Amino acid sequence: MYDGRTFNCIGEQVLNTREKQSHSVSHLVPKVDKELCISCGNCVDLCPDVFVWDDEGKAEVSNPGGCSTQCNCQEAAESCPTDAISLEE
Ligand code: SF4
Repeated sequence: MYDGRTFNCIGEQVLNTREKQSHSVSHLVPKVDKELCISCGNCVDLCPDVFVWDDEGKAEVSNPGGCSTQCNCQEAAESCPTDAISLEE
């Protein structure tokens, strides 16, 4: 019987967008490595309630729990050109 799940060609379950957000983002805590940040602004533009500028013009996390409700921090991390953002459980 079909239970609504979708699988890819190697048998991994494929999540829809809503499932991805609830599975991959809600429990993750973002961190910024300021040594790697080049101040491009992608994360601040995508998640302004989570990422802000510090006094030196580098991104920092102001609200680590904001990923669960206010934005998609996974997308912010993927948009970072220097991989300065990590998402930790
Ligand atoms: S996306 Fe990356 S490089 Fe750009 S401001 Fe954010 S942390 Fe810095």
